[in-house]
Amino acid sequence: MNDNTRFSESSKEFRSLIISSSKKREMIVKNIIIVAMSVHSCFIWAQQEKFIQHKNNWGVETQFISRSVLPGDDFYRYVNEGWLQSKTIPAGSSGLSNYSEVGNKVNERIAEVIHDGAYTKEGIKGPLKQVGALYLGYLDTDNMDKLGLKPIQKDLKNILALKHYEDVAKWMSNPKSFSIIAIHTTPDLNDRSRFLVTLSESGIGLPAPEWYQKQDGPYPGYRKSFQEYISHTFQLAGVGNADKRANDVIELETKLAAVQWTPAQMRDSKINSHLMPASELSTYAPGFPWKTFLAERQVNNVDEVILQADTAIKAKAALFTKIPVDVWASYLAFHWIVNHSTVLSEEFRKSQFDFYSTVLSGISKDIPREQKSIRYVNNRVGQLVGRLYVEKYFPVETLESIEDLVGYIRKAFATRLEKLEWLDESSRNEAKAKLDAVTVRIGYPETWRDYSSIRFNAKDPVGNEQIIAKANWDYERSLLQRVFTSKDWYQVPQTVDATSSKLYNSIEFPAGILQPPFFDPSVDPAVNFGAIGAIIGHELGHCFDDEGSKFDGQGNMRDWWTSQTRKQFDGRTRLLVEQYDAFSPLEGVHVNGKQTLGENIGDLTGAEVAYAAYQLYRKDHPGKQPVLDGFTDDQRYFLSFAQVNRTLYTPEAYRMNISRDYHAPAEYRVNGVVRNIDAWYKAFNIQQEDKLYLSPERRVRIW
Ligand SMILES: [Zn+2]
Repeated sequence: MNDNTRFSESSKEFRSLIISSSKKREMIVKNIIIVAMSVHSCFIWAQQEKFIQHKNNWGVETQFISRSVLPGDDFYRYVNEGWLQSKTIPAGSSGLSNYSEVGNKVNERIAEVIHDGAYTKEGIKGPLKQVGALYLGYLDTDNMDKLGLKPIQKDLKNILALKHYEDVAKWMSNPKSFSIIAIHTTPDLNDRSRFLVTLSESGIGLPAPEWYQKQDGPYPGYRKSFQEYISHTFQLAGVGNADKRANDVIELETKLAAVQWTPAQMRDSKINSHLMPASELSTYAPGFPWKTFLAERQVNNVDEVILQADTAIKAKAALFTKIPVDVWASYLAFHWIVNHSTVLSEEFRKSQFDFYSTVLSGISKDIPREQKSIRYVNNRVGQLVGRLYVEKYFPVETLESIEDLVGYIRKAFATRLEKLEWLDESSRNEAKAKLDAVTVRIGYPETWRDYSSIRFNAKDPVGNEQIIAKANWDYERSLLQRVFTSKDWYQVPQTVDATSSKLYNSIEFPAGILQPPFFDPSVDPAVNFGAIGAIIGHELGHCFDDEGSKFDGQGNMRDWWTSQTRKQFDGRTRLLVEQYDAFSPLEGVHVNGKQTLGENIGDLTGAEVAYAAYQLYRKDHPGKQPVLDGFTDDQRYFLSFAQVNRTLYTPEAYRMNISRDYHAPAEYRVNGVVRNIDAWYKAFNIQQEDKLYLSPERRVRIW
């Protein structure tokens, strides 16, 4: 069934049936061809005319709609089956989605910007010159092959010669090193006007604890490959006792994995904001030389720190001196090589790719170095590139259209807040105040991060890596001295994604996502509401999800709920957790309803609110809404919602997604959502016998 034409032909027949007939689904499937040819033949003919006229113009790629899957059984596959079956994951990737496809387009544009910096002979200076040097340094694999291990040889020697625990902690403090303790600066959750040093746990080389623990499925194989990779890396580097060291590293990481918090625990703000005087660290988590660690990062003078995953930090600190120093040395040496592998000689680059990309992510072939270098520069100095990108590629009109759309979404949210019967007046007023206070950032930041002191060297890619790591930490550290404002962005403008911050009560839509198929001023408005509209609603929904709702309009963690209403909210979200827990796409593997709860609330809120916003838009634009290719505008809204989420994964990436990601896999981000929305039932005439059907009282209604 890899034939697009066949899909487009059959989908036309099928669509006309579901729209104009209320027949039972068995009937529909069995008689699809016959019925279409007889009763509805005139109708179809009329539609074919339209189809040619509108094909792909109004925004949904109708040629991909399924002939055999019913919308009520699997809405995701109904809309996307043709796409899922005919597309393949490109070489060098672990998946394919609208996000990755637009990302590739963005990368092509970024390449132009970067090439300007790299290849223009005269008059290049400032940021563009630095971008060019970083790019050329990463591109020049001949130089790397010539240098071999030399650029990190001295570091490696020093690591392997470590004799004291204090020195181990010093290495862990290096921003390019692997470490059992992660260090950042983040806002104080109770007073977001100030930044504090935040310590968190870290330190395993495999994706998640079950990769070390599970005895069935692919996990023992992953461990064996990891062991071989570590050993091979030591051999390549000429380090003795490679096998023993590899075993030591895995044994150590297994111990670290055993005390690691789950992703579901990590997203709970309340238990991840343990504030304490820095001087109490060694009492709370004895065993780790905290003073040395902080001093190396030049933050030994801070009064207070925040602990995330505090009990895991405690357990890791306790483990620290129980592990012999030479085992730590093997661990740090191996990861030091891995962290520099992409800028070392061929054998290191290849073995790192073979393990991390092929074995763990299912990517069989790497992308050309040229493309890799573009992604690398974009990833490392995103703001520098982004500034040059928006100057060239972000039209002002987009800004205005999105502001307009955001206006509808906010209004719809506010209108719904007025009516929600489970909110009491006090909580309703608080929620309204919070909604009013949400800051919306569109396109790109007003102020840009200053990179003026950075000097990259096109002949020293390893040195460049270390310069970036240091610069990033210097930037984070600088936040301790000033107030982070709404002018500071979380994402770079070329990002093809959106985000929301509970601490700043803000939502952010970078230039990268404000383009087709997410947003296209030339297509049907219903489609834009189903795509970027639902994404805006999703981000707004995060301000009110299980975590966001613990923060007020000023971004401070404050319980603004009455206990009665909070109970209502918790009851509703619990039902959503149960719904997602029940999804089991792989044998023995379930979606984790708790881990994905925030995103699922975001998805559901986004789809509900953007639909309501579209109704408001229609009121402002009266007149008969056209039927396009046989689809009403309500149907087109939901088709667009499902289309925007279509995704292909390698099996390895899919498994990793379920284990680590806060988003449910794509199909549940569609099917898990629409089945809770009354308007979807009406639009597609969904009946009790359809697989996704939920009786009205079992549908989760939150915002
Ligand atoms: Zn989200």
